[in-house]
Amino acid sequence: MLGLEDKVVLVTGGNHGIGAAVVEVLEDFGAKVAYNYRSEPGPRGSLGVKVDVTDAEGMKAFAEQVENELGPIYGVVANAGVIRDNLILNMPDEDWDFVVNVNLKGAFNTARAVLPKMYERKEGSLVFISSLGGQRGNMGQANYSASKAGMIGLAQTISQEAARFGVRCNTVAPGYTKTDIIKGIPEKVEQALLKQIPLRRFADPKEMAWASAFFLSPTASSYVTGQILGVNGGQYMS
Ligand code: NDP
Repeated sequence: MLGLEDKVVLVTGGNHGIGAAVVEVLEDFGAKVAYNYRSEPGPRGSLGVKVDVTDAEGMKAFAEQVENELGPIYGVVANAGVIRDNLILNMPDEDWDFVVNVNLKGAFNTARAVLPKMYERKEGSLVFISSLGGQRGNMGQANYSASKAGMIGLAQTISQEAARFGVRCNTVAPGYTKTDIIKGIPEKVEQALLKQIPLRRFADPKEMAWASAFFLSPTASSYVTGQILGVNGGQYMS
């Protein structure tokens, strides 16, 4: 239906959380999905490989392996991400470097690993998983918000550079989504946050996966590039 049948898609951080939901939904749409992870493999996917997104050469080798084992990569969902929250004056340099390196440099490494072949083939669609924090900042998340805002700038730049090669690049900006990354939020804070969300609930990971599938689709979003889709229950309206 979305034209994703037999398309090869590479998902970063596809073993759990939003990434695992992306793998599952894309497979349900008929795609052949490869993913990477840092810790343990996940439940779905045709190919799961342990490689860190901060390892540029490792990501190139991973992309090559996917091409050899599954076929030409059509789509990418750059999803791998981490948090290390603190108020800016308390934030250790290493926490800034770690988060920016995984979230932003990881997306850069992922894009550079796949773009040359996409340019040659003159087709492809990239989706970056940014964040509400990247659109409007967030208390205690200087490193994270900066990295996620950087991903938006990177995606928009890629969309401009890649358009003449028939390659599109868009961004999904999730709001609070029920995964491990937010499970430490205290009950009182959760209740306060819910009051800020017009739909009065946190998102299900699959709601990010469906938005990603839309952007990947060669039919549903064929004329859409350089855009940001906020999937946030109405918490932020840009
Ligand atoms: P999780 O912590 O559940 O998952 C993070 C994923 O990223 C895991 O698969 C993890 O692999 C992978 N990962 C982390 N670091 C690396 C690395 N260096 N190399 C390869 N893979 C890595 O978080 P979510 O599923 O919630 O988050 C997914 C994305 O969505 C992130 O980019 C996050 O910033 C973004 N997001 C999430 C929101 C939320 O409320 N949940 C809100 C806004 C954005 P492993 O398990 O092996 O470490």
